[in-house]
Amino acid sequence: MIESFPAHEARVGQLDLRRALPLRQKRMVGPWCFLDRYGPLSFTSGRPMDVAPHPHIGIQTVTWLLEGEVLHRDSLGYEALAEPGKVNVMTSGRGISHSEETPRGSSGRLNGVQLWVALPDALRHQAPSFEHRASLPLLDFGNGTAMLFMQSTAILGAELRVREMTMPLDATFEHALFVLDGSAMLEGEHLVPDILYYLAPGRAEVALKSRDGARILLLGGTPFGEPVLMWWNFVARTHEEIAAAREEWERGTAFGQVRGYDGPSSPAPPLHARARPPAAS
Ligand code: MN
Repeated sequence: MIESFPAHEARVGQLDLRRALPLRQKRMVGPWCFLDRYGPLSFTSGRPMDVAPHPHIGIQTVTWLLEGEVLHRDSLGYEALAEPGKVNVMTSGRGISHSEETPRGSSGRLNGVQLWVALPDALRHQAPSFEHRASLPLLDFGNGTAMLFMQSTAILGAELRVREMTMPLDATFEHALFVLDGSAMLEGEHLVPDILYYLAPGRAEVALKSRDGARILLLGGTPFGEPVLMWWNFVARTHEEIAAAREEWERGTAFGQVRGYDGPSSPAPPLHARARPPAAS
């Protein structure tokens, strides 16, 4: 009933990561197609997060922090600080570029997740947009809470703080639980960090217990139902679309300019290379 998939580890620059989506055995959960977990870490100098300007197509990026700060800049001219309890949602639509970095004057902590949402065919060619949401719904389940950072008829993204709680779910959705801190029990299964626990559609609720007040990411959505091709920072449907997007990025057309980032943009890998999505992007 509960399938578990361990995240795989990566170290890029100064940043230790665990990637929980996509996995070979589990590519997506609803429209969620990418999950990088980084931190918790402390630093006194340097910038653990430093992702130079790079392009996206076909997705929304969702930055959710437990501690620390990440400064976002994009080709629409937005500059926004992701902080705990506030979410940055960037919709690439047909094309956007952005950078993400630890800001000057940072708290010296970094702890969070970077998520991508695949856009359905009807929405993936829309104009790009950016939204910083500073006030999010907090649901109270008596001895646990859920802060909803993504919610619509087709998607759910929430951070749960668990003692003992039963949360209703949309039974048409598939879901995943990913422990961020602490540990919890779900129907006799011990949930621990850095493992993606997959819950198939057909569940009307989830009942969780935690002695140490676990923090758990809950992702859900309607099973995506469209074949998705991921290459580097692009989510598309065909190799031709990927090649065209890569060409436009390399030529400097179609993805605008990110102003304020101190350094060169990220070059695209060669098209023939097996290019997994880069870290924390
Ligand atoms: Mn990115």
